[in-house]
Amino acid sequence: MADQPEDGLHLIVIGAGLAGLAAALSTKLANPSHKVTILETVKELQEVGAGIQVTPNGTRLLAAWGLADILRSQASIPTSLSVQRYDGTKLLAHEPNFQESMMQRYGHGFWDLHRGDLQRAMANRCLSLGATLQLNSRATSVDFDTATVTLSDGRVVEGDVVLLTDGLWSTIRSQFVGKPTPAILTGDLAYRITLSLDDLSGPDAEFLTEFVKTPRVNFWVGPNTHAVGYSISAYTIYNLVFLCPDDLPLEVTKQEGDLNEMRELFKDWDPLLQKFLGQLKTGVHKWKLMWLESLPKWANEEGTFYMAGDCCHPMLPYLAQGANSSLEDGAVLGHLLGKVNKKDQNGRKEQLKRVAEIYQKLRMERGRQIQLETFKQRDDFHMEDGEQQEKRDELMMSQLGKELKGAFPSRWTCPEIQPFLYGYDAYKEAERAYQENPF
Ligand SMILES: Cc1cc2nc3c(=O)[nH]c(=O)nc-3n(C[C@H](O)[C@H](O)[C@H](O)COP(=O)(O)OP(=O)(O)OC[C@H]3O[C@@H](n4cnc5c(N)ncnc54)[C@H](O)[C@@H]3O)c2cc1C
Repeated sequence: MADQPEDGLHLIVIGAGLAGLAAALSTKLANPSHKVTILETVKELQEVGAGIQVTPNGTRLLAAWGLADILRSQASIPTSLSVQRYDGTKLLAHEPNFQESMMQRYGHGFWDLHRGDLQRAMANRCLSLGATLQLNSRATSVDFDTATVTLSDGRVVEGDVVLLTDGLWSTIRSQFVGKPTPAILTGDLAYRITLSLDDLSGPDAEFLTEFVKTPRVNFWVGPNTHAVGYSISAYTIYNLVFLCPDDLPLEVTKQEGDLNEMRELFKDWDPLLQKFLGQLKTGVHKWKLMWLESLPKWANEEGTFYMAGDCCHPMLPYLAQGANSSLEDGAVLGHLLGKVNKKDQNGRKEQLKRVAEIYQKLRMERGRQIQLETFKQRDDFHMEDGEQQEKRDELMMSQLGKELKGAFPSRWTCPEIQPFLYGYDAYKEAERAYQENPF
């Protein structure tokens, strides 16, 4: 077998997004004798997207990967989380000591980061651990049995294991499943905005600067739409996302948004949001939100091919779990691949089969459950004004200042859903599953 390190596996990762980088660095950390090659289509890692909320199930992994110190200095760490009516007239939920609660409940924080900072830190960590990152390398096909990847320029990369992390618009996913697996419309889109403190001007600048420097997560919920705002980049940038019905043409997935159109759409929303929108000169992006029905499998039986991240479980960003669950995928897979160490080919074959079994058992059901929760969050946040919405508001407001018990419409603080999301320890789960039946 070409390109095989003497004592380890050769893992080829297709896509240097957060899922691919997580798996790459977790594999190298688990077993430095494994060789890891990351193939990435772009010529340069770009700062696609803007803010990303890394919840305790994710920051727990950043700590395990030795990234907590560098990223803490680039993060904005919110001290409260609030949900209000869209027009700012009613506070529906408020967790004042949010960060303390996170630390108490989960032992790890809730950080708001610039995606570029996170991706860069993870890529650098991969390189420092000895993984190879090959940019300008677009995979076009995979031989799933032999773990061989063919690139658009004709190059062929041979390995022992291939991990597909090529994102929502994956082309290779369908090759593996053996039938078309198009991403499905959710019916919603995101307007994504970032505002740097340096760009604030006019009479509102001082007030807005203070607001951005005071870290908190804010939600505004209205009919068919909600908005979320938080600071990133060490409290120097405000990240604002409006999530509303999709009016983009079917074939358009991303588009520069029209500022006037947006201001008109949200003219009745909280005056605070008007102040932010009033500062914008350019830079509104409209982003179609897609998802995918359950795939029959995320790995082949032989354990030579795996999928992780958005290519197998894209979801609505309404619980900020797309990237966090992609980090979990990477941690679990890396931990299990780290155990594959037999030099003899038969031993290795058996071990890889077991990795595929455990990986799918741990990750597929959880991925599905999180996807479904994001739709439930939409139902609860996007209620039309009327009786049901009034009931929701009453229920939420009746809990203000109290310790929440039982199901709560905002899953961000719901005592039933929050522990399921944030309490997940990917390494513990992977090790427990391995110990139940070691290979
Ligand atoms: C508006 C919005 C807000 C969000 N906010 C959050 C949040 O706060 N928290 C959170 O956890 N998640 C959030 N998400 C979700 C999160 O962004 C994704 O789930 C996550 O980035 C998926 O990572 P990935 O690595 O699977 O895919 P991607 O980030 O899409 O990476 C795929 C990579 O593969 C490369 N690639 C593609 N095809 C090939 C090929 N053929 N060969 C080689 N390389 C290839 C691409 O160039 C890319 O670098 C949000 C999403 C949206 C839309």
